[in-house]
Amino acid sequence: MAILYADDPADAAAWSAAIRALDPGLDLRFWPDCGDPAEIEFVILGAKAPGDLRRFANLRAIQSTWAGVNFLLADTGLPPERPLARMVDRGLTASMTEYVVFHVLDHLRAGPRLRAAQRERRWLELEPRKPQSVTVAILGLGALGADAAARLHELGFTLRGWSRSGKELPGVTSFAGLERLAECLDGAEILVCLLPLTDETRGILDARAFAALAPGAVLIHAARGAHVVEADLLAALAQGRPSRAVIDVFATEPLPPEHPFWRHPAITVTPHVAAITRPGTGAEDIVANYRHALAGEPLINQVDRGQGY
Ligand code: NAP
Repeated sequence: MAILYADDPADAAAWSAAIRALDPGLDLRFWPDCGDPAEIEFVILGAKAPGDLRRFANLRAIQSTWAGVNFLLADTGLPPERPLARMVDRGLTASMTEYVVFHVLDHLRAGPRLRAAQRERRWLELEPRKPQSVTVAILGLGALGADAAARLHELGFTLRGWSRSGKELPGVTSFAGLERLAECLDGAEILVCLLPLTDETRGILDARAFAALAPGAVLIHAARGAHVVEADLLAALAQGRPSRAVIDVFATEPLPPEHPFWRHPAITVTPHVAAITRPGTGAEDIVANYRHALAGEPLINQVDRGQGY
């Protein structure tokens, strides 16, 4: 019985080494060299399936190497009755937290103003602000949002968090449900979006959300492009609320050269590089999940298809 790797071929060698280091005895195959399709019990995918997975009659489970499964859930090649696991990888999580903390600290330490002053050879003496004076609202308190919140709490920021279930985390004032979103955002100076893309969260970063922020606020968005209503963001930036946006994810990726975000003076574009799964750490849950699948047990980080994440 075999595992089929059908994610990016460029990463196949790294995943192969990481998985075989944990269990050299596994029969690991690489798309399109599946061998007998009846022997494939577990498939590893990125953001899309290589055609219809129903060809693997004995498939027990599907594992994504991606944290967000919105693309896979929309993929008609995935049999909906087979359990699907998303990736929670401490390497990816650490990387996302670096991204968030880096941009939060850049705002705290007036990075954009100081860089602009340097371009003008202007000696801009700013007194460093205290992290406590900056309210950061984090949308999404899952694997990624919770870790970013923990690091920002250590640094002393004033934190609010928004989740579906009302997750309680040290140092974070918690809000749950759409009816409390405005309260979470009210007067926040930094908005961090780390939500999954679902029917409920699509377009959540809209004119209403931006209008709730403090004047001069910053948006740090590393979740999915379709969370943002782009026209609303451009209009909000023109009004200075938020006054800047750091954006890693876009409705169309790669971001087309003619897209206004590229040249917008208040937008920092990063090309979906905030965090990627590291095979060295990500392989642990994959191997564990293969065993869970063989034993007929629930997967680690199994996706709730009803909730969409
Ligand atoms: P996760 O562990 O599933 O956490 C999702 C969080 O969002 C949970 O706190 C959940 O609430 C909350 N949530 C979901 N739907 C909600 C709703 N309707 N209202 C309020 N809160 C809601 O996900 P994760 O691992 O942290 O990843 C989050 C997202 O980051 C991924 O889905 C992916 O799109 C994105 N991502 C981006 C990159 C990048 O490089 N830019 C890399 C990895 C991931 P509960 O706690 O109540 O369930």
